[in-house]
Amino acid sequence: MVRKEVLEKLQSAQKRLSDINPNFKLYIFEGYRTLKIQKERFLKRLKVLSELEYYENPFDLYEKTHETVAVPSVAGHPSGGAIDIVIFNQQTNSFLDFGSPIYDYTTNKFRLDTLGLTNEQENNRQILREILLAENFAPFDGEYWHFSYGDREWAFYYQKPAAIFSNLQFKNYE
Ligand SMILES: [Zn+2]
Repeated sequence: MVRKEVLEKLQSAQKRLSDINPNFKLYIFEGYRTLKIQKERFLKRLKVLSELEYYENPFDLYEKTHETVAVPSVAGHPSGGAIDIVIFNQQTNSFLDFGSPIYDYTTNKFRLDTLGLTNEQENNRQILREILLAENFAPFDGEYWHFSYGDREWAFYYQKPAAIFSNLQFKNYE
């Protein structure tokens, strides 16, 4: 589930992608996420990190956690504007090789600026980035698969005075 504006942009991005290769399909793992889930994931990641290393200043632990799971108050997914997205190849029946599977934090390769990628992996990341930035999505350097439109991250990236979307809350939807 995503904002209507995001859906429309994804449809245009899919057209751009099909022009590059008709077998390529955008594959969205997650769009809208409730604030409750965001809080749970943040705390879970914070707990894992706090067990790996001692942080004298709790703020450093918060910052480190924020690198992979956004602090709930500024997170994009609860606004319905953020997506976790990769590309699926219908011909080979597999995802394109991005150098690291989506949501894999066991190596440093989830970051956009990671070293040691093959040309093909670099190229696949470039394709994903290009078609989405052409639709005015903002990338997130912390995760090559995360993009957003209209959330705070997007406003910061494009130097807009404010985000378009605030967090969504639905009754009976958790
Ligand atoms: Zn995400």
